[in-house]
Amino acid sequence: MAKIRFSALEELAHRKPLEVPKRRRVSEIFGCDVLTIEKMRQYLSIEAFKKLEKVMIEGGTIDRGLADQVAAAMKAWAVEKGATHYTHWFHPLNGATAEKHDGFIDLQKNGSMIEAFDGRMLVQQEPDASSFPNGGIRNTFEARGYTAWDPGSPAFINNNTLCIPTVFVAYTGEALDYKTPMLKALALIDKAAVGICQYFDKDVEKVTATLGWEQEYFLVDEALFNARPDLKLCGRTLMGHSAAKDQQLEDHYFGAIPTRVAAFMKDLEIESLKLGIPVKTRHNEVAPNQFELAPIFEECNLANDHNLLIMALMRKISRRHGFRVLLHEKPFKGVNGSGKHNNWSLGTDTGVLLMAPGKTAEDNLRFVTFIVNVLMAVYRHNGLLKASISSATNAHRLGANEAPPAIISSFLGTQLTQVLDHLEESSNDELIALSGKHGMKLDIPQIPELLIDNTDRNRTSPFAFTGNRFEFRAVGSEANCASAMIALNTAVAEQLIEFKSEVDALIAKGEPKVSAILDVVRKYIKESKPIHFDGNGYSEEWKAEALKRGLDCETSVPVIFDNYLKEESVKMFESTGVMTRKELEARNEVKWETYTKKIQIEA
Ligand code: ADP
Ligand code: MG
Repeated sequence: MAKIRFSALEELAHRKPLEVPKRRRVSEIFGCDVLTIEKMRQYLSIEAFKKLEKVMIEGGTIDRGLADQVAAAMKAWAVEKGATHYTHWFHPLNGATAEKHDGFIDLQKNGSMIEAFDGRMLVQQEPDASSFPNGGIRNTFEARGYTAWDPGSPAFINNNTLCIPTVFVAYTGEALDYKTPMLKALALIDKAAVGICQYFDKDVEKVTATLGWEQEYFLVDEALFNARPDLKLCGRTLMGHSAAKDQQLEDHYFGAIPTRVAAFMKDLEIESLKLGIPVKTRHNEVAPNQFELAPIFEECNLANDHNLLIMALMRKISRRHGFRVLLHEKPFKGVNGSGKHNNWSLGTDTGVLLMAPGKTAEDNLRFVTFIVNVLMAVYRHNGLLKASISSATNAHRLGANEAPPAIISSFLGTQLTQVLDHLEESSNDELIALSGKHGMKLDIPQIPELLIDNTDRNRTSPFAFTGNRFEFRAVGSEANCASAMIALNTAVAEQLIEFKSEVDALIAKGEPKVSAILDVVRKYIKESKPIHFDGNGYSEEWKAEALKRGLDCETSVPVIFDNYLKEESVKMFESTGVMTRKELEARNEVKWETYTKKIQIEA
């Protein structure tokens, strides 16, 4: 028999077809590898379950006794499902995910082996973390970092390993990851938004930030990929010439999905569904061999865990099909690059979408209040938001004639623009009319409940209102969404807090509530005008205009990073408790370092 080379065997192993459960409904597979709170119920005492559920929903600390019970439950579930190892799963600043697997084993005095996993191992670990980017926060001689369990995102099984989502912090307490500041920003916006919701509805107790990402990517044949050292080392081609036929005929977008790609997508979707990722949409993108995948939106922290997981799954599963996935923002010159649109919104525990218009005038005042606060936040921190999505790789995409320009602005569409104009121009007396004993009647122009179909699609806007949410389109395809979500949620939260203090001050002076809200909203509409732009973001005129409006027009990426250290950014992060100056300096250092190294590798 001919001798098979080892590498060829390895190749075959990668291509081993997935064991797909036959004829099972999606709803049967969904989440089968996730330890949801519902499944926990079967493994915990009623008392322990109630305590854990409270922490999972409301946050809080877990005592050692409870941790032991939860650990035992996790182990029982995981071992039943064939897991042999466990790991703390975290998101260091290198943009990837990190895991160090430990077996569920312990040696007994008599030499026998038992399966062990207790609360101590669940709640906290001390990985030797000196090799992760830390921007100088830790010296190698004090290598300790801590990972600590995030009970807000459920544990799952991947590769026969129980993965426990955790935060990652230095021995001295500074965050060394994306999850820590993200959780702080999300807790902050919850509190700040509830404060505003209470003006309109006293029943609102919780506001959740939601994220629906759309992931673009390229697939290339593995053999062709291996023939290109530039693709292998840098994730993009550095030399060569364009193909005679690329996207000139515009025949790829939404075209029929090639059979081999469809097989990859199917595998990917099944694996994603097992991990509880609600994947929904798939289609061909504009460039040849470019595709998109999008799930149903979820709570921001969970959605981001899922995006990181799916990027890892894509890398793994593409190889089973003889492909390599390229997540680089611009793998090929001359054809479109890939982004990761971040659809972002806020929703209440009473079921209201805060970025969507409602049925009554009061609903619409609430809607306008939130929209205008978002505009103000994006205006005040447009440079920082740009920094949050900037990287060496995304730099090739931004500013090119296909992706959002290197200037942050917000598209609102004709209808919303008209509403804001009307509010700005009329006085409170005109807007508020007395109508008998029902109190005030607001003359806020009718806003159709469904704006989605009415917001013209402006693909050139980096931060577009799309009917019931904003779509942050400038995020890069290989980025960790948390970077953008931390900046955005913190900026909006800071703004909502300020709005509330201004409104409360007017109320304290005796102004009626609605009138006070209208006063501040009107002021914000005027102030945030420079960020509102519905025109063509790719045009040269816009660049000149944006400069006049005082928006951040810097195009050099490493210089853009310095927005993190501007006084207003430091003030925003420190006053809200999301990040300290030291953490910001460290993050900036990591950004500069990563940028430099990537350019050096390419050189
Ligand atoms: P398009 O490509 O036209 O922008 P898609 O259907 O590909 O539209 O993506 C829309 C994304 O927006 C989906 O991921 C969807 O879940 C998400 N989305 C919808 N509503 C919300 C919301 N309230 N909050 C966050 N994301 C949302
Ligand atoms: Mg989109």
